[in-house]
Amino acid sequence: MKHRMSRRNVTDIPFPSLSKYLDRLTRDGLQRRLVAIEAVDGRHIRVSGRDLVDFSSNDYLGLSGHPALRHGALAAMDTWGTGARASRLMSGGLGIHLQLESAVKSLKDSQDALIFGSGYLAAIGIIPALCGRGDCVFMDRLSHASIVDGVLLSKARFFRFHHNDMEHLETLLGRYRGHYRNALIITESLFSMDGDMAPLEDLIYLKYKHDAMLMVDEAHATGIFGRHGEGLVTRKLAADVDIMIGTFGKAFAGYGAFAAITSVLKEFLVNRCRSLIFSTALPPPVVGANLAALELSSRESWHRERLKDSFARFGQLLRQYTGIDINCNSQIIPVIIGGNKEALTIEKNLFEMGFMVKAVRPPTVPPNTARLRISLSSAHTSEDLERLAKGIARSLKDTMGPRPSCLSKDPAA
Ligand code: PMP
Repeated sequence: MKHRMSRRNVTDIPFPSLSKYLDRLTRDGLQRRLVAIEAVDGRHIRVSGRDLVDFSSNDYLGLSGHPALRHGALAAMDTWGTGARASRLMSGGLGIHLQLESAVKSLKDSQDALIFGSGYLAAIGIIPALCGRGDCVFMDRLSHASIVDGVLLSKARFFRFHHNDMEHLETLLGRYRGHYRNALIITESLFSMDGDMAPLEDLIYLKYKHDAMLMVDEAHATGIFGRHGEGLVTRKLAADVDIMIGTFGKAFAGYGAFAAITSVLKEFLVNRCRSLIFSTALPPPVVGANLAALELSSRESWHRERLKDSFARFGQLLRQYTGIDINCNSQIIPVIIGGNKEALTIEKNLFEMGFMVKAVRPPTVPPNTARLRISLSSAHTSEDLERLAKGIARSLKDTMGPRPSCLSKDPAA
């Protein structure tokens, strides 16, 4: 068959269904748009000429822009240049990558560590390296898209257990595990859209009972929880978790990810993990900033302490002003609205009041659970928190009436 170059204008949409699809998204309040942030200054951002207090980023420790991280990036660039020039297995494996892996080993107290281009790349590389046809995966049904994509790529048979429901997981393991060769259980430790935590000790118990491996994604817990910022898989639990993933792009205000693992698993992944083998290594300035962030976070635990005070305080403020009891045990606070359009209206109202708070909608969260995802940072002041709590209370009332019935007490319920 001959292929001819199309004479279409480049602005034409090649398939009519694309525009129909986009129209449908708009109609259902599900369209997504890229936002151009014009300036970033600590906890403030400027969008469309308006200065906003940002409650939507994952810069939980307020380290983005910190002089120590800038200096780390510049020093690494002076020594190693701007790019890694190749994948680590070609000629991109630099000394500074090994330095970062050593720092991760100290943070996690793990036998070894392997760094990745991003958390997404870590998940879509590690899961298919470990599992394939004939194996099975049991994942929490609220697991992040990178985990879902990794599992789909692996071609392993997979089962999704109800969120944090260990009885359901045990039932699935009992029923299906025996039919497959290897089994992998996957969860997040702190859930990115719900701010609640996995029952790690129970997962460890089930992993041993059913002869499975356990992988825990600590993207949002790393830097925040644990005495040294190691995450919710504390040093006491670390030896029982086979793969701990952490990211540098959130609390550490950089980019990239790591897996804290045994040396033999590292060697295995170096030989089998496609997202590591076939992708350029992290650029030196990014690695330099990541190193500086790890160092700073272990030295200055007050960032963590301040953040913890903030989420406890914000829980009280929300109760006081909205009358609802929302899960505020972490820096991620979901205010479940339900409808997509209502969530977008509240997002817009809050923007007008000077806040950037994102309405998170399906498919990022399950249908009918659109929510405001409030993301606290240690850089927020108590005045920021108070103003936001009042703003949410006002906007909820204006949009949904005096007693918004869709607000769940337990967001994970
Ligand atoms: N896991 C979780 C739970 C996440 O929330 C994210 C990012 N939102 C990732 C993994 C992916 O990490 P990265 O942004 O470094 O690709």
